[in-house]
Amino acid sequence: MTAEDGLLAIALEVGACTKCPLHESRTRAVPGEGPSDARVVIIGEGPGSSEDREGRPFVGAAGQNLQALLTIAGLKREGVFITNVVKCRPPGNRRPAKSEADACYQYLRRQIELIDPEVVVLLGDTALKQFFPGSSLGAMHGKPATRSQRTFFPTYHPASMIYNRELKDVLDEDFGKLGRLLGTLPG
Ligand code: URA
Ligand code: SF4
Repeated sequence: MTAEDGLLAIALEVGACTKCPLHESRTRAVPGEGPSDARVVIIGEGPGSSEDREGRPFVGAAGQNLQALLTIAGLKREGVFITNVVKCRPPGNRRPAKSEADACYQYLRRQIELIDPEVVVLLGDTALKQFFPGSSLGAMHGKPATRSQRTFFPTYHPASMIYNRELKDVLDEDFGKLGRLLGTLPG
């Protein structure tokens, strides 16, 4: 099975998944999207209302911010694989429970294995804690971290700059660092 077929199979499973209570309130599951040979996988927290309606990740306000940040890093949205810790929208956009994130983790783990990217970008605390439990974004953002021979790059969530303008500068800087790490920006 090719990586592309594998990703398609996961998307079908996610669409029919009832492994956690989030399936009860979803309109559409949001498995994620992007090329199977992407150099970068980007992981958010979970779908919001626009994403739940469209079945696609980061299509609302946070998606606009993410788009601008990818441009800063010298990346194109079509070239990266974008997904979330949980594939179904938590009601009222609450943070997903750890039990929900853990129930959904098998899909994320398989997506990363199939794509085998150079860097996994973790957006925000929920994504960070799924891979580095007990660690803090303040200490880890903006630099690569290795776990199980995989390179992660934690940074803040693009929605956070809507509420905290100071984080916009930090995010801009972090995505510049990401571009230099990938070589999509000059060193
Ligand atoms: N916020 C997220 O974490 N993920 C999305 O897909 C959209 C908004
Ligand atoms: Fe299944 Fe994940 Fe949706 Fe829960 S959030 S129902 S585990 S796909």
